[in-house]
Amino acid sequence: MQLRVHDKATGERIGEVSIAQRDEAERAVAIASEAFASWSKVPVVERARLLFRYADALEHRREELALSVSRENGKTLADARAEVRRGIEAVEFSCGMPSLMMGDALPDIARGIDSISTRHPLGVCVGITPFNFPAMIPLWMFPIAIAAGNTFVLKPSPQTPLTSELLFSVAEDCGFPPGVLRVVHGGAETAEALIDRPEVAAVSFVGSSAAARHVQQRAVAAHKRVQALGGAKNFLIVMPDAVSDETCDAVIGASFGGAGQRCLAGSVVVTVGVAGDAFAPMLVNAARKLRLGRGVDDGVEMGPVVSDEALARIRGYVERARGAGVEILLDSGTVPSGGSFAAPVIFDRVDPSSELARDEIFGPILAIVRAASLDDAIDVANRSRYGNASSIFTRDGRAARSFAARIEVGMVGVNVGIAAPMAFFPFGGVKDSIFGDLRCHGKDAIAFYTQQRVVISRWPS
Ligand code: NAD
Repeated sequence: MQLRVHDKATGERIGEVSIAQRDEAERAVAIASEAFASWSKVPVVERARLLFRYADALEHRREELALSVSRENGKTLADARAEVRRGIEAVEFSCGMPSLMMGDALPDIARGIDSISTRHPLGVCVGITPFNFPAMIPLWMFPIAIAAGNTFVLKPSPQTPLTSELLFSVAEDCGFPPGVLRVVHGGAETAEALIDRPEVAAVSFVGSSAAARHVQQRAVAAHKRVQALGGAKNFLIVMPDAVSDETCDAVIGASFGGAGQRCLAGSVVVTVGVAGDAFAPMLVNAARKLRLGRGVDDGVEMGPVVSDEALARIRGYVERARGAGVEILLDSGTVPSGGSFAAPVIFDRVDPSSELARDEIFGPILAIVRAASLDDAIDVANRSRYGNASSIFTRDGRAARSFAARIEVGMVGVNVGIAAPMAFFPFGGVKDSIFGDLRCHGKDAIAFYTQQRVVISRWPS
């Protein structure tokens, strides 16, 4: 069966891919499993050399990749370029694999006994990825996995499958042996077919919390390694000493960038004390000016959301809040035609326990919650079931330090709207934002995609 892919801003058909039936998904795993036998024996320095070549090839084709991301996802070209850049950084990180997967050694750990620990690849790894970062999130996974000697089968989001095809065709041009990388398309059923294969040793997942929980439980039940990053609700705390244009820009970027469809979207602003009275009108003023349109066009700051279903879900939240009498500061309503455009919406004095402040809406909706003190603001954020990221805006080092120590998230920002760790640090949250314990990229990824062996030796005299 064919899956048609459309430009999210115009509805124009831009490509199609075949949906893999269970037997095709299983065949992809079998091919990857066969390739593992030889790929895992290629010296790590040679594997890294291919990844250097891959990073270089992606660099040369980054504009083409950004265009693919922008068209099939809807985000602006500037956002797509930034995403591709972040993805290439993960490939660059994987080029360091000869150092990254080194083990440890301790001679004479006991009399006449030496001990060494070494890292080894696992086998076939599977990646299941979401629609919102069609280049970056696959690149978080497969370069590191294959540099470590694994082979990899990717199942990208059926909403944005074309960029993965492009990433894999660039890899093919670089000379990765056949079978080391496979891509199969489809939805949950295809993902399950991959997870269920006995040859699959590890599953990396990024998507919503419900799917992450399901994937983790299914993989763990089959005794596989799994890292499953889930959804988010990120709180941005604004102290009275940080009410400025700079903070406003950072918050607007975090809340409305990517049309609010980022796992690091700052969807609740918690203003402390008097900050709210001055800051709320600044946000409204800035959000009102955001230019909606086709992501590839100059000057556009916000593209459409991914589908009509997403738009209906987002508007459902707005209408229910309106019905409940929540104060609406902005809901301009006028949007371009063509794609599923959602206008920026800002609510004020939102009840911290309401669905606006608790659910992951995944659209350009910003809720302002008023808190009396920093303690109250931290308490509002820590009551979330999610724990991906949170930021504080302040000039007070003590407030920032206290926030960083007490906020229950995996990624903390101080005067940074989007606290996204670069490829050299682990990316991921806590609570319902992750199922499994090791995060994506950084040292966690090395631990995830390798298994350790300890050799203890004594030689007879
Ligand atoms: P989604 O959960 O609908 O789909 C993600 C992937 O999982 C897709 O490939 C999909 O086909 C597959 N899938 C869906 N249900 C499945 C199931 N039951 N079993 C196996 N596979 C299944 O997510 P989405 O709408 O594509 O992406 C948005 C979500 O991803 C948001 O919740 C966002 O917060 C999250 N996300 C999280 C991070 C992070 O770092 N934590 C990063 C990006 C996106």
